[in-house]
Amino acid sequence: MSSEMEDLYQDIILDHNKRPRNYRPLPLATHHADGNNPMCGDEIDLYLVVKDGVIEEVTFQGQGCAISKASASLLTERLTGASVAEAHAAFKDVMDLLKDTSREADLAEDGDMAALSGVRKFPARIKCATLAWHALEAALTGEAEASTE
Ligand code: ZN
Repeated sequence: MSSEMEDLYQDIILDHNKRPRNYRPLPLATHHADGNNPMCGDEIDLYLVVKDGVIEEVTFQGQGCAISKASASLLTERLTGASVAEAHAAFKDVMDLLKDTSREADLAEDGDMAALSGVRKFPARIKCATLAWHALEAALTGEAEASTE
């Protein structure tokens, strides 16, 4: 990966950390899960409004490092308006992106989500990046809590 790409990925993460998208509670949420990453101290509360198999709204709140917040912010941007099936597929995509080092992320294909691939260089931080996604899976499958453990 070129250093220009790394700079770009870092800019995207920092931007989402500084100005997290959809950062608010959702009183009318139909689905909710708390995500906890004790390794880093990240806590993400994820809220969804799911109607007829479509995620109409997804928001989050929480405390944590830049990577955990940016990943949650990216998740909300990616999944607003997506179907539940697309959300499960996106979860799998993110896991592959973070664990399969042979896969070269493509910004054109993955949009800002590709920035998460920059985390691969820091294995201790992968759980920070996957936390919101584990919370998503937990919320969609009806579990109230998600842990990266
Ligand atoms: Zn973290």
